[in-house]
Amino acid sequence: MIIRFLPLKNIFFVLSIALLVSSNGYSQVEPVCGFVATPEAQERFERLLPQIKKYEQEYYNKSLSRSSTAISSIPIKAHILRTSSGTGGLTVTQLNDAIANMNAYYANAYIEFFLCDGINYIDDSTYYDFETNEQSALTSGNNVNNVINIYFANTVTSSDSGGGLCGYAYFPGGPEVILMDNGCAINGSTLPHEMGHFFALYHTHGPSNSALTTELVNGTNCDTNGDLICDTPADPQLSYSNVTGACNYIGTDTDANGDTFVPDPQNIMSYSRKECRTLFSPQQYARIYATFQTSRNNLSCPSFNVAFDANYTRDCSNSLTVNFTDSSVGATSWQWDIDGDDIIDYTTQNPTHVYNEGVFDVTLTISNGTSSLTKVYSELIEVGSNPINTTQLLFTLTTDNWPAETTWEFKDSNDIVLYSGGPYIEGTHDFTTFNETFNIVADECYTLTVSDSYGDGICCASGTGSYELKTLENVVIATGGDYGFGEETYMSNQSLGVDDYFINNKISVYPNPTNTVLNIKLNQNSNLPDGYKIYNMLGQLIDAKEINNIGHLKIETSTLNNGMYFIKIFKDDQFTSIPFIKN
Ligand SMILES: [Zn+2]
Repeated sequence: MIIRFLPLKNIFFVLSIALLVSSNGYSQVEPVCGFVATPEAQERFERLLPQIKKYEQEYYNKSLSRSSTAISSIPIKAHILRTSSGTGGLTVTQLNDAIANMNAYYANAYIEFFLCDGINYIDDSTYYDFETNEQSALTSGNNVNNVINIYFANTVTSSDSGGGLCGYAYFPGGPEVILMDNGCAINGSTLPHEMGHFFALYHTHGPSNSALTTELVNGTNCDTNGDLICDTPADPQLSYSNVTGACNYIGTDTDANGDTFVPDPQNIMSYSRKECRTLFSPQQYARIYATFQTSRNNLSCPSFNVAFDANYTRDCSNSLTVNFTDSSVGATSWQWDIDGDDIIDYTTQNPTHVYNEGVFDVTLTISNGTSSLTKVYSELIEVGSNPINTTQLLFTLTTDNWPAETTWEFKDSNDIVLYSGGPYIEGTHDFTTFNETFNIVADECYTLTVSDSYGDGICCASGTGSYELKTLENVVIATGGDYGFGEETYMSNQSLGVDDYFINNKISVYPNPTNTVLNIKLNQNSNLPDGYKIYNMLGQLIDAKEINNIGHLKIETSTLNNGMYFIKIFKDDQFTSIPFIKN
């Protein structure tokens, strides 16, 4: 076992190691992860959060088999550092085992990693024992664009602290580079851990390695503090001194409420003992998946890559014909699942498909005769829209304190802008309400687009702005404010009225996370759903009840084990699924 020293972060850390050595003679000290969340990376991540939340929801839907569960292939370039005479370095077997081990975890996030164009050996004793200030010199001549460049070194040392590092990685926006210490690369948990950072996961103890997490033990601020993940318990920063060899936490730290921390020493994104780290939580997997969809979807191997174009991806009527054009590299055969049901629909290179109403994943798997690659394009095709039946729409917009970021457009099916507004004037139009009237005709489709140039919407973090679109008859079609860079609403003005129970009711559940009781919230309490079913993350049915009166909307949850669940709420032949967490 390689022995190295921790970077000297703070007195407490050093003291706790000294005590450990003197009390039981235990002298093994493991290097830590060198990841630090920069303010830029955190800001970028927070701007993307609304989109990430959308894809996390999509991930939960996948778990209920409502869309493609195919696994997308992501290219890795392996750079193995050796001495100038070509000795040392990770072996091919060790590399393949490390990737296979990592793939076993990431399959739960519907992604896998493959080696792109073999291994790049770098025989240079300067980099064999790598120091972090050598990164740009090493990577500038070796990096392959748009793949994950992983450099495997004999040792990795922090140039700042002089301490040994197991590895480090960057959030989206940073270099597509991961540095790994060879000993840590094969320990089973550090490579999945660093890849977790690459997909925007924080340490479970939060963005700082020196300050105690502000995440509370009771879970009330889990969405905005610590690792911003709610199904990982608050973590006071695990270490080899407060986690036993049997992987039990023995620390006594308390949070701001005086509650004793109950962290999870098994979580891969913690600083627990390397051999104890064997789990990602469901929401961590959801975030990996969402970050892949929003920030890491551009990765492609130059010699072997799966990709395609679609001539149309959206239509507000109830039918759409789409021509797919393969743009893969190195493919000799093709398998298309064009509607996300995990069934191969076409094996031609450039299929054409007629869609009916719905939202569809499109998955293409290509083969070059010896290996295959898959890519899932989540919710690529959207057919259909909100049915409306009116002659006029009423649009109300209230700006936040950054009105110059806000614009909106109302277009018809030919993409002609009929009405628009913004950017508004900073200092003059702050917190101002604008009312607009749109005249519309029957049997035509319309799109409302509301945008924010900074990407933080108009409510919540940045103020109290909001918008609403409703018909002359007061039926609300769209409303919101927390929309990141923007959102679109599609509507078709039909001659016939259509009653969509779930659109009109906007069902939600609260509190979430829940402890003893979960409430179903409806807009129209007089018209109850038929019933509900509760499933766990494995899709197993846990509970099912009919709803006959308002009292049945209050669900007893104290008997549920802690963890993530879905509640599926039924009305006639329609349903909606909402994830919730039991703490
Ligand atoms: Zn880390």
